[in-house]
Amino acid sequence: MDESDRLVNSEAFVITQMDYGEADRLYTIFTRSRGKVRAFARGVRKSKSRKAGHLQPLSLINLMLAKGQSAWVITQADTVEPYETIKNDLHKTANAFYIFELVNRFAPEDEAVFPLFNLVKETMSRINGEDDLFMVNKYFELKLLKITGYMPNLSTCIQCGEAILPQDQYFSAAQGGILCPRCGARHPDARKISMLALKYLRFIQRSSYHELGKAHLSQGVKDEMNSIMLYYLTYINEKAFNTPFFIHQLEANDSNKGKNNEPGK
Ligand SMILES: [Zn+2]
Repeated sequence: MDESDRLVNSEAFVITQMDYGEADRLYTIFTRSRGKVRAFARGVRKSKSRKAGHLQPLSLINLMLAKGQSAWVITQADTVEPYETIKNDLHKTANAFYIFELVNRFAPEDEAVFPLFNLVKETMSRINGEDDLFMVNKYFELKLLKITGYMPNLSTCIQCGEAILPQDQYFSAAQGGILCPRCGARHPDARKISMLALKYLRFIQRSSYHELGKAHLSQGVKDEMNSIMLYYLTYINEKAFNTPFFIHQLEANDSNKGKNNEPGK
């Protein structure tokens, strides 16, 4: 290993952090130049640590990393973009944590994936600056699947190869895509998907972000798209996700509050 491999300067996001020993922390970070890595920061729990303030989840930071004998050590940290709007809004915070939960599950260790890093950065800017997070979220999921090689087939029936007709279909996580009504009925694991939910997933799959524009989807179609994507992502990961449940609770709370604001209540 030569010197350039032992010292790295990279943009990064903190994914998780854990106290370690007397005053240290062990971080999982997603870096531009090394992908997902584990790195120690020495003495960051002491009050005079300058690094501690910059090693925050939900900020884009710049790090200096040095390869120790067994692990990376963070020698310097500076905030590049704090995304204040995200941190001051519970919905935005929850959605951003969902992005990092996905990154933690899908990003390989010690391997740079530049398109994924760029996607995460763009997505953080969108969560920070935009009000409607549904499309931001679905766009991220589908592009993540593309980058990591899990893009579902949404165009033809996975089983018989028939073109998908404009009617309700089935989606099978195990098969990795759409099954026509005839084939879908023979796969007990497959879930029904409405024509409209499938249409929008296909639209997002083939579009760039700026082509999406403002789509006005009913809550029913949004719920269906959320549910199908989560079913597929969970199947690939073989493990449930934590943040979607929290986001769902937040949204349910909001709609209840709306009802309670009616006069006389
Ligand atoms: Zn078929």
